[in-house]
Amino acid sequence: MNIIAIMGPHNAFYKDEPIRELDGALNAQGFQTIYPKDASDLLKLIEHNPRICGVIFDWDEYSQDLCSEIQLLNEYLPLYAFINTHSSMDVSINEMRMSMWFFEYGLGISEEIAQRIRQYTNEYIDTITPPLTKALFNYVKEGKYTFCTPGHMAGTAFQKSPVGTLFYDFFGANTLKADISISVTELGSLLDHTGPHLEAEEYIARTFGAEQSYMVTNGTSTSNKIVGMYAAAAGSTVLIDRNCHKSLTHLLMMSDIIPVWLKPTRNALGILGGIPKREFTKESIALKVAQTERATWPVHAVITNSTYDGLLYNTQYIKETLDVPSIHFDSAWVPYTNFHPIYQGLSGMSGERTPGKVIYETQSTHKLLAAFSQASLIHIKGDYDEQTFNEAYMMHTTTSPNYSIVASIETAAAMLRGNPGKRLINRSVERALHFRREIQRLREESEGWFFDIWQPEGVDEPECWAIQPGDEDWHGFMEADADHMYLDPIKVTILTPGMSERGVMADEGIPAALVAKYLDERGVVVEKTGPYNLLFLFSIGIDKTKAMSVLRGLTEFKRAYDLNLRVSNMLPDLYAQDPDFYRTMRIQDLAQGIHRLIREHDLPRLMLQAFATLPEMKLTPHQMFQQQVKGNVETVELAQLVGRVSANMILPYPPGVPVVMPGEMITEESRAVLDFLLMLCTIGKHYPGFETDIHGAKLTEDGRYLVRVWRSEAE
Ligand SMILES: *Cc1c(COP(=O)(O)O)cnc(C)c1O
Repeated sequence: MNIIAIMGPHNAFYKDEPIRELDGALNAQGFQTIYPKDASDLLKLIEHNPRICGVIFDWDEYSQDLCSEIQLLNEYLPLYAFINTHSSMDVSINEMRMSMWFFEYGLGISEEIAQRIRQYTNEYIDTITPPLTKALFNYVKEGKYTFCTPGHMAGTAFQKSPVGTLFYDFFGANTLKADISISVTELGSLLDHTGPHLEAEEYIARTFGAEQSYMVTNGTSTSNKIVGMYAAAAGSTVLIDRNCHKSLTHLLMMSDIIPVWLKPTRNALGILGGIPKREFTKESIALKVAQTERATWPVHAVITNSTYDGLLYNTQYIKETLDVPSIHFDSAWVPYTNFHPIYQGLSGMSGERTPGKVIYETQSTHKLLAAFSQASLIHIKGDYDEQTFNEAYMMHTTTSPNYSIVASIETAAAMLRGNPGKRLINRSVERALHFRREIQRLREESEGWFFDIWQPEGVDEPECWAIQPGDEDWHGFMEADADHMYLDPIKVTILTPGMSERGVMADEGIPAALVAKYLDERGVVVEKTGPYNLLFLFSIGIDKTKAMSVLRGLTEFKRAYDLNLRVSNMLPDLYAQDPDFYRTMRIQDLAQGIHRLIREHDLPRLMLQAFATLPEMKLTPHQMFQQQVKGNVETVELAQLVGRVSANMILPYPPGVPVVMPGEMITEESRAVLDFLLMLCTIGKHYPGFETDIHGAKLTEDGRYLVRVWRSEAE
């Protein structure tokens, strides 16, 4: 970070020469100097070059307006105003609370000024660097010799081996130097919450609007287990979103608790509508508790917020309505909700404490913010027992945490602070809105068909769009609750032709998997592919070029599709999977072939039914896992699942939502679950390269899906 922008004074030799001298002195201090053309050029430069660490300008020419505009971009950026002895100083700069320093134009003093600028720059860097990251940087800079783990010793060990040096050169010196042992006392302890680690947690809690925050180095998979282990004692009952991440299924397998499911709705497109309001009522919960063996009134609830497709709950309603002592919002997908006003009231940490309840929110920092994989956070609001919670925390945390991950969590938080943070999130929202409008425009201008987008009419303003009753035409949810669910603008679902929001199948269609494969072969990886929809995430790492390449990919797909190119030309990777099968096939035949299969099997109806009636819980996930550990399981074909108790969670991907939980049995009433799974398999069987991925089932070489079931007679 070493660029200083200089706004050169115009037409005044007595000012020019001092600046020329200063330029030389700054270069000698290691700064690079740049000269913006005018104020708007300067603002653009600051916006696009976070490495700019100071601005020099002429006070007579620019003064206050420019300062306020710079402040909106970055209120921490040091500003250096040059004045002559007659400049008026009537401005209330103090009110602006900026880092601003004044210098006089003069010759022979440039070296001293440059030194001061170096010092203020260091202070700026110090201000924006969060505590643990700072301590880690300093530790690495000091370069102490340690005689503890890790065994590579700041990378030295790698450099003693040919293959080791390859590794070292690839990852670079600092990556290895920053990988240090927990015995380094200067950095405090992640597990004991001391020193810079404690400071980092406090810093993060302030940033995210939490009372307490915990940094977790093994993903939200682990965060979810920590919260669950603490919040529900053995034998107690928990309310769990049926649309839960598999880590919560694993929690249920580890901990002897009884699940009672909150059942989400879905539309014909396969998009989850979230849990309807009625599921949160006392009557609904009482009924389910009465129907579940061993169940008592739930002590804890887990809700996935947002859903995979980007629907956020009115969390205030849930916090007030749901009659349980603690509520956990699994917000792995939305770590940014505290940083834009459009998400107010839609996140776990938003708003004040809820009297008598503890609210938890878990977030995968790495998913949509800038942090290393596995970076995750637990936020808490409400009274809880810190010591017991920390036992649960340590139970799931390594005693050798990776500090690079920890520092990346803290840096992700630091990036969101102040105006630079606001702008970062605002930019992703704006970029997503722009993308949405572009798709709309292309659709209007396009000859014949084009992709559609899942959104209401008119998406001009940044906001989260309510899924309201009466608006079914765009969202397709038949029994939506008022003011309950909201679509996040940065989760963009593109629709391909073939099915309406209401599930009416068209004569012709283009299954989304084809488009996903086409984009993939062009280096664009889609987050999720449904039958006729594709999900794109506009995280802060998505820049204009990436958004453009998706648009280009979609228009190129349309052109190639309309020309009816051969599969071998259009999808060479798919062709390579089975050249005989795809030898002469053209893209439209492939699309219509799969579309026809989906129609024949009436996928929209089957998918709705599959989630309408849950299978029957015979054993809790915990009991079932114990049976599995004892070896009381056997393997059967998927088709034989009716009347058998599944040992594991079965989760077809897409749609990425579990259909069978460990210990559950598909009965005649819930047969649609199996029919749905079998349909996915059938479609996959007809077209090489389109096999469905079913977690919890094993695909054999000859194309059969095997699942493990309880061998109950072995009891
Ligand atoms: C991804 C995800 C998790 C797990 O997060 P990791 O950081 O990958 O461990 C948990 N819950 C939900 C809803 C997720 O999408």
